[in-house]
This record gives sequence, structure tokens and C-alpha cells, in this order.
Amino acid sequence: MRSPVRHYVGGGFDGSGVPFPLVDPVRGTTAGEAPAASRELVDRAVDAARAALSGPWASWSPAERARLLHRIADGIEARFEEFVDAECADTGKPRELASTVDIPRAVANFRSYADLLVGRAERSWNTPTPDGRGALNYTVHKPLGVVAVISPWNLPLLLLTWKVAPALATGNTVVAKPSELTPGTACLLAEVMAGAELPPGVFNLVHGGGGDAAGQWLTEHPGVDAVAFTGESRTGSTIMRAVAGRLAPVSFELGGKNAGLVFADADLERAVEGTLRSAFTHSGQVCLCTERVYVERPVFDAFAEALAAGARELTGYGPMVSAAHRDKVLGYLGKAAADGRILAGGGVPRFGDDRDGGFWVEPTVLTGLPEDHPAVREEIFGPVVHLAPFDTEEEALALANAGPYGLAATVWTGDVSRAHRVAPALDVGIAWVNTWNLRDLRTPFGGVKASGIGREGGDHSLDFFSEPMNVCVKL
Ligand code: NDP
Repeated sequence: MRSPVRHYVGGGFDGSGVPFPLVDPVRGTTAGEAPAASRELVDRAVDAARAALSGPWASWSPAERARLLHRIADGIEARFEEFVDAECADTGKPRELASTVDIPRAVANFRSYADLLVGRAERSWNTPTPDGRGALNYTVHKPLGVVAVISPWNLPLLLLTWKVAPALATGNTVVAKPSELTPGTACLLAEVMAGAELPPGVFNLVHGGGGDAAGQWLTEHPGVDAVAFTGESRTGSTIMRAVAGRLAPVSFELGGKNAGLVFADADLERAVEGTLRSAFTHSGQVCLCTERVYVERPVFDAFAEALAAGARELTGYGPMVSAAHRDKVLGYLGKAAADGRILAGGGVPRFGDDRDGGFWVEPTVLTGLPEDHPAVREEIFGPVVHLAPFDTEEEALALANAGPYGLAATVWTGDVSRAHRVAPALDVGIAWVNTWNLRDLRTPFGGVKASGIGREGGDHSLDFFSEPMNVCVKL
């Protein structure tokens, strides 16, 4: 059984609220419970965050905030194994993934924003204006105020801290709501915050559901000045409607249906290995995962055969996060089996032990589906990739750019000129060439079309979470 999940409001822990069950995705058994925040508790969290804005926190210098971020990072590192345990218990993801990606990246999120803060200077202009008038102009960055951070279940701590770190770096106060499926590491983070000498109310955490529950109440709350959200595109639209009346700014990282392009001049072995990683990391439950691969016709058969063989040999992968999500993925596979061909996987693995009660889906390679098929067009968010051939570079680009999403894409080619021609022509926020998910936290991260609004990462996040103000002094 896991340690108790509690809210953290105004610097104190709170276990109130109707309990909801937490389920172990590996076995499908109940593994604990968490309290759902009441509307009154959400109000208290927002009030505490509002009050903290005018407390001692308001006078913390950037250097003090940078030291705080390092203390939080130290606190996560000091309880590293507990964080790994909690992330694995909630998501069912392999321990290796949580201990090499999720938790180290959460630490890096705090450290990278701490380092950025120290090197950041405000701009000023003390030269005459373009029309010759003497003036000193300088910029002051102010916090937005109370920020709601709403995060999904796939990379619970990584994505939560990716927003909390820059929000605190810029002097905001935060009310965070993780997915009800994965509250464990957020709760540990609150414990770390409690030991990090943070003024009460600067970081608050409430648990509970999204729609018509804590998530929705937060976004509708008149005391919330901005919403930073990662999740489904449909939820993004709902949140946009919720904040529209008060014109609160939003930062949205939403869904994707990411394409891979494999050209005949690519190192095929590397392209296969890279696509196995990009399609099946965390069983496809990463927003950046590749779900459609277009392969130049002369190498299509060889690529398809090698990818299917690789998928069949994969071991050590994890389950879907919930029974509902497993059923959704299997629904797509049912339609795909009827309308196309399954080259690998397509079903539920059998282990002959208690994992047979869990939410597993085999790594699956599909082909032969039309481009308007739901399994090719809609985000599945599972271990499923569809392969289709192309004949020309123009056709490859048109296929990759079709559809409502535009988060990420990967290009596999041995031709440097082609790489520089194709990558910038993709309608996405992030294009990788001969690699996947190689991240530098200073670079812009986000999507176009239905994949998001705004960019996170480095200065982009610091800019979102602060309000630049111009002061002009006549000289
Ligand atoms: P959801 O949109 O279902 O949920 C995300 C968060 O929003 C959860 O905390 C959820 O709470 C909450 N929520 C749900 N409905 C509302 C509402 N009406 N008002 C306020 N909050 C709400 O996404 P998933 O958790 O299913 O995450 C998977 C999705 O996230 C995929 O589409 C994936 O592509 C996307 N994603 C995008 C990333 C990016 O960077 N672009 C990165 C990672 C994931 P609860 O879960 O408790 O219902």
C-alpha cells in the first residue's frame, strides 16, 4: 500500500474529501485511495495562494527564488527512490523509465530554471527614441499572480514540475491539480516543498477529478489569474471556455498524432531502432510518441519487417494507465484489424500470473489503413504505430502535415540538404532529425494547430509566467 495522498493548502496537509480509489495498472487491483477536494477546499487553496502574493514571497529576489528551486531539487533527490516507487505505483511504468527519465527530469526542471534566473537581465533602452526624443525605457517583469497548474497522468511529476518550476521562478503562487489517476508524486513534491522554507500558500496542491470537480472549479475560479495545462486537446477547449469570461491567459500543451518520415537514404537500422523507441516508450503514452510512420517505397518492406520483428521482441514494457484507457486502445485495434493488417501485436499479452488482471496491450504495428481511418487520424496514446509507403518528398510532407495535430515529427535521412529542407517544412512545434526526444530544456517546446497554444521551455516559460511592464522616464 502507498503512503497517504493528501492535499497541501496554505502550508498545511489536509486529508479531507470523499475518497476515490487508486488502481494498480500492472495488476488491476485497488492499491489505495485519495481524497477528492471539495469546492470549499479549492476556494481555500486559491485564497491561500492569493494571500501569499502579498506576503514575504513578494520581496524574494530572483537569487533567493533560484536558491529555493535548488532546495526543491535537492529535496527530490534526497527521496529519489520514494519518488520512483510512487511514480511506478501510479502509472505502472517500468522502474527503469521512472528512474532514468521522470524523476531526474523533474530535478532538472527545477535546476534549469534556477540557472536561467540567475543569468537573466531586464532590457533597457537609454538612447533617444526613433523620432529623436530623449527617454530611458526599462522593463519590469511581474508575476501573473495565482496560477493553476493542471497536469496529466502519463508523466505525472515531470510535466507538473515543468510548469511549477518556472511559475515559482517568476514569483507566482501556484495551485496544482495532478490527474486523479496519478496523485502520488505530486503529494511527495508537496512534502518536499514543506521542507524547503517556502512561505505558506506559495505552493498548494489539490487532488480530485477534472470535469465537474477540482480541475474544472480551478479553471472557473475568479481568483485564478492564469492556467497552465497539459492534457487532451478537447480538455484544452473546455478550459479555454472556462477562462474566456475573465480573459485569463492560458498555456496549453495538448494532444498529438506525430509522424515519422523514413527516406530510402536513411541508415535503416538506426531508423528502426529510433522508431521502436519513439513508438513504444512508456507503451506509447508520451505526447511525443510516433503513431504514424511514412516510409519511402523502396525500403518500405524491409523497414516494416524489421520494425515488426523489433516490436515482437520488446520486453519490459508497462501497461496502459487504466482499464478505460486500455479499452480505448483496444477499440482502435479492433477497427484496425477489420480494415487493415496487423504486422505485430494487436492483442493483450498473457503472463500466467497476477499481471493478467492489469491493463496491458502488446506493442502493435499496423499497415494498410486509409489515411482517414480513425487509427491513423486520431490520437491513440498507446503502443500502436501505423506504417504507410510514400513515393516523393512532397507526398511525404503532405501526409505528415495532414490532420488536426502538430506537436512533433521525426525525419530519418542520410541527406543533409533534405534534412534541412524537410524538417522546417513540417507543421509541428518540434522536428527531430535522425533522433527522437533529444531535449534541451532551453529550447521552445509545444505544438501548433490542435496540439497547443504557446511554448514552454527556457525563456519561453519565464515569459509566459510573467507580465512585462514598460517604464518610460523622459530625459
Ligand atoms: P486530460 O485532458 O484528460 O486530463 C489532463 C488533466 O486535466 C488531468 O489532471 C485531468 O483531471 C484534468 N481535467 C480533465 N477535465 C478537466 C476540465 N474540464 N477542467 C479542468 N481540468 C480537467 O488528459 P490525460 O490526462 O488523458 O492525458 C493524456 C493527454 O495529454 C493526451 O492527449 C496527450 O497527448 C496529452 N499530453 C500532451 C503533452 C504535450 O506536451 N503536448 C504532454 C503529455 C500529454 P483527471 O485526470 O483527474 O480527470
